[in-house]
Amino acid sequence: MGLDTAVLYIVATPIGNLADMVPRAIEVLQSADLVAAEDTRHSQRLFSHFSIETPLVAYHDHSDDQRTTKILQRLEQGQTVALISDAGTPLISDPGYRLVREARERGFNVVPIPGACAFVAALSAAGLPSDRFTFEGFLPAKPLAREKALQALAGEARTMVFYEAPHRVLDTLEAMRLVFGDTREAVIAREISKAFETIQLLPLAELVEWVRADSNQQRGEIVLLVRGAAEGRSSELDAESERVMTLLLAELPPKRAAAVAAEITGVNKKLLYNWSLSQK
Ligand code: SAM
Repeated sequence: MGLDTAVLYIVATPIGNLADMVPRAIEVLQSADLVAAEDTRHSQRLFSHFSIETPLVAYHDHSDDQRTTKILQRLEQGQTVALISDAGTPLISDPGYRLVREARERGFNVVPIPGACAFVAALSAAGLPSDRFTFEGFLPAKPLAREKALQALAGEARTMVFYEAPHRVLDTLEAMRLVFGDTREAVIAREISKAFETIQLLPLAELVEWVRADSNQQRGEIVLLVRGAAEGRSSELDAESERVMTLLLAELPPKRAAAVAAEITGVNKKLLYNWSLSQK
């Protein structure tokens, strides 16, 4: 395959199953003058499998400017450069933004070679609305920051998609249950395209227990999806709880109102408090 010169190709690679590598990606990686990779040792395995012998250099978004400059110089010399990440589509929770931006600013062609992407695969099979969605990437690792990020999404009507590390998945699902409520549907999509692929859709309260009961569900690579809030309402509160909260909020600060309303209605205090925030 003859490649155009002075082009930066953004090449998707498999997210598990090597058979998901598309023929065009193999051709581009074989024919390019240079491949910039997130982790050259990791990519060496992909290269051996597909008999690719193109030289590899490391690239991260925090790579010093010199590294970016060197890659751009190769383009200036009329060479063809391909960018890959460890898995899936580069720039999707992966490095590459700075390089793509600079290459475009200097007038080089930037050409995507589409292929696997974990969140697209998860969304396509999850069974949650996919006409409108928001990709949130990784939530903050620290509990307080994570809770804040989730609270900012309490009224989000679109399906929400997250990447999560296996050792945090249970805590994150628990935090999601508190913010979005017991009955909100969510999906764990784990090990997509691999031997232990699992896609489970349940209301959040049940999903938390399902994941807690089976430590295998806390392993491997994970996408979490949460159904958006019902349109026209910023939370999953029933009408009676909303009425009680509205009355109490006229007299009390939000925290106190949520505590009293929880006594009256039996609804989770945090859910009531989140609802009060979404009313401001
Ligand atoms: N660029 C990749 C893409 O296109 O999806 C994502 C890279 S990000 C650093 C890695 C995260 O993607 C994992 O922690 C996991 O949340 C998700 N992921 C990657 N492969 C996956 C798979 N096979 N099954 C489920 N999630 C996966």
